[in-house]
Amino acid sequence: MTHYRDTYACIRLDYIQDNVETLYQKVHKPFMAIIKANAYGHGYQQVANVLKDNPHISMFGVATLKEAIDLRNIGIQQDILVLGAIPIEDLDLVIRYDITLSLFSKDYMDEIQRLYHHHQPVKVHIKIDTGMNRIGIKSKKEFEDILSHCQNSIFQVDGVFTHFATADDPLQKEAYHRQIEMFYDVIGNHTFRYIHCQNSAAMMYHHDERSNLGRIGIAMYGIDPSGEECDELKQVMSLYTRVAMIKKVKKGERIGYGHTYTALEDEYIATLPIGYADGLIRANQGRQVYIAGHYYPIVGRICMDQMMVKVDENVHLHDRVEIFGEHISLARMAKELSTIPYEIVCLVSERVERIYQK
Ligand SMILES: *Cc1c(COP(=O)(O)O)cnc(C)c1O
Repeated sequence: MTHYRDTYACIRLDYIQDNVETLYQKVHKPFMAIIKANAYGHGYQQVANVLKDNPHISMFGVATLKEAIDLRNIGIQQDILVLGAIPIEDLDLVIRYDITLSLFSKDYMDEIQRLYHHHQPVKVHIKIDTGMNRIGIKSKKEFEDILSHCQNSIFQVDGVFTHFATADDPLQKEAYHRQIEMFYDVIGNHTFRYIHCQNSAAMMYHHDERSNLGRIGIAMYGIDPSGEECDELKQVMSLYTRVAMIKKVKKGERIGYGHTYTALEDEYIATLPIGYADGLIRANQGRQVYIAGHYYPIVGRICMDQMMVKVDENVHLHDRVEIFGEHISLARMAKELSTIPYEIVCLVSERVERIYQK
């Protein structure tokens, strides 16, 4: 197999299955597997292919209509919910590919109704906004209004759902409880095939018996939603490269664009074939990578396709370099970058080859 370049993400598909099982043991309910954004950067095709036969996965959730159609085109047969807004002009595709919509306002409903000219019903889950203030309806009155319009109409209501803003934060438990109470208050005595509200954090840190489907996202990829280290889950993605060149520079020589690093003594500098176009953003300058049992600092600015690391005699040409993985967790990296692990894995660009391990 041709690799073109010594930079790759290793994806442990077996860990995905293990993480699904771990979550299942907590909540004992079926899941909607969230595989938006190319399965959080892990590669939607391979991830969907292992999940489609997992007995705990009842359906899939994505962010865009394109992502939903891509799943149909690789043969996914389960229901696919698009969590975000779909342009009304694309309604034909929604029907053709049997995609489920999020119905998030009366206006949106009216627009769909106006344009609709098919025989099949439009499958929807009604989105209730209980505190995110993103999409969704905000009152029981609107909910009842939409429900009554759904009767004997083109809409087939398969579910109702909401999304938490603070389920990952132990200091904001009250906000979580306000949201979940409002959710069940709005639903009232109505029954639905799917009632869902739990994201990964809600399943890991809270209990809820009333919903019958969990939306499993970040935890499936082995990352604790709180951004903390986690023993229970297995991190699915690791990012590696290899040393392309090592050179000795003299004390006082400068490294990279802008000459932002000056060698403090005679030093070994290794060049790695990975840069910000691979998703390793420039803010990583000064952080460390792991090579042959030791940590080494990234020196100089990260270039688009390459970067430099200050090493020593222990490091050899073609040695494997861990950017994140077993020795550098995504939790640690995210903290050092003042971000969240979600962002780091989503940014690993298409150019980085994914190597899958079953
Ligand atoms: C992305 C998303 C999820 C998954 O959240 P995680 O924190 O990754 O578990 C669940 N529900 C909605 C509406 C989402 O947009």
